[in-house]
Amino acid sequence: MPENLKKLNQDIADISTWLKFDKIPWVIAGPCSAETEEQVLSTARELMKSAHVKVFRAGLWKPRTRPNTFEGVGKAGLEWLKTVKTETPLLTTTEVASARHVELCLENDVDILWIGARTTVNPFLVQEIADALRGADIPVLVKNPINAELGLWLGAIERLYDSGIRKLAAIHRGFSTYMEMEYRNRPDWQIPIELKRLIPNLPLICDPSHIGGSRQFIEPISQTALDLGISGLMIETHIDPDRALSDSKQQIKPDVLISLLERLRARSAAIAGKPVAGKIGRLRAQIGHVDRQIMQDLAERMRWVEQIGKLKQQHGIAVLQINQWENILEDHMARAEQLGLDAEFVKAVFELIHAQAVKRQL
Ligand code: PEP
Ligand code: MN
Repeated sequence: MPENLKKLNQDIADISTWLKFDKIPWVIAGPCSAETEEQVLSTARELMKSAHVKVFRAGLWKPRTRPNTFEGVGKAGLEWLKTVKTETPLLTTTEVASARHVELCLENDVDILWIGARTTVNPFLVQEIADALRGADIPVLVKNPINAELGLWLGAIERLYDSGIRKLAAIHRGFSTYMEMEYRNRPDWQIPIELKRLIPNLPLICDPSHIGGSRQFIEPISQTALDLGISGLMIETHIDPDRALSDSKQQIKPDVLISLLERLRARSAAIAGKPVAGKIGRLRAQIGHVDRQIMQDLAERMRWVEQIGKLKQQHGIAVLQINQWENILEDHMARAEQLGLDAEFVKAVFELIHAQAVKRQL
């Protein structure tokens, strides 16, 4: 782990210093946007019935893709969030995208802030927010940037840390892509996993509403998050989803959320002390053995490649032999299926191996 991240990791406040929960998943729920006081309060009153829901979310300033759509009620909604705090045990959170939003939230006792995906991509805005937060003791949740770039996500967390914020968490809400797919945003789980590897103490929250973009995907994505060991979820919940002024297709009613949460199966992070620990240890040893074997095989493959490279050079033959590469790839992908391996996965592995082999011959 790089030195600066090591320090950041050590200094991150334990989540128990800002959130009390005894059930996994613990949940942030509420509408995409605050629309009326009645909508906010009726949603919050329903949500407080679940032992999982600890935080009420509602967007006040909405970053909309197109103009002339509902852009949020703005600061009027701050009063409604205050009422949620007096009428329910829920904490409150909203999205901030500028220094002004931060000031207004701090003045109006919003408990937790989050930075949206469209803001995390912009270091100028993140810095402006971080500067406005200097000296404040408030938890800040950082959504991943719209595009699949870990650096921007890390950068936003580091900027907040450098401003003295210690109560930090990351929200995984998927990544935008031009490719057609059933989800609204691609989960690309390896990116939040890499973030967790770099900053293990940083709590990770999953937002299945924005990943899936549609009600039917919320449950399976939430279960995947739990299976990976993620214990916090942010789920958009609206008292009348079909009439929601933003993200209507992905919002669910509070009672639908409550029964969904009851169906999810949590897993525990710890292995030590469990009766199965010995068995898992032996399986890990087997996997480690195979990994070392794979590396030896790769080293051997590269030695053969270098010999071919020398011959090609001596005889004036081009390094890249596109037909041969086509044949290898087809052959390996067919074999992958016979072996029960995902052909696209095998293709990706051999593309990397082939790129390395070409490099070795140049
Ligand atoms: C939201 O949570 O309503 C929102 C705008 O999310 P994101 O920044 O993930 O798009
Ligand atoms: Mn939304």
